[in-house]
Amino acid sequence: MIQIVEDRSEGQQSEQFGIDEAISRRWDEVANQLRQEIQELQLQLWQYDVEKIFQKDHGVPKQYLQKLKKMKMGKSNRLCSICCNQFQKDELIIQLPCKHIYHKSCVEIWLQSSTKCPNCRSDVLEHLREQEK
Ligand SMILES: [Zn+2]
Ligand SMILES: [Zn+2]
Repeated sequence: MIQIVEDRSEGQQSEQFGIDEAISRRWDEVANQLRQEIQELQLQLWQYDVEKIFQKDHGVPKQYLQKLKKMKMGKSNRLCSICCNQFQKDELIIQLPCKHIYHKSCVEIWLQSSTKCPNCRSDVLEHLREQEK
């Protein structure tokens, strides 16, 4: 008799455990769904922040652009790597601190959306700021 009672209670316990497990599994699913949604939201926020930061800090400010070395092109068969055209004699060019040269009009447009030399990726703005000190 005693043994049968014990068996029953064990059976009930395992059944009880089964329900608990199902509930906790359901909660896990809900939690996972929420976690995914939160992660997506965080990603969207992060992308939004990155876009904002880049819009704000993109390009070299005009007061720095004026400090770049301007000169007239002599005879040369070098290419401007922004427009891929050869420099013509007497064309107005700009030499970046890294010594790379470009058409004035080409590099001015380039530096509106980037602070780096299109050739060697050295930071033009950083260099100009250091010159100021
Ligand atoms: Zn050019
Ligand atoms: Zn360069």
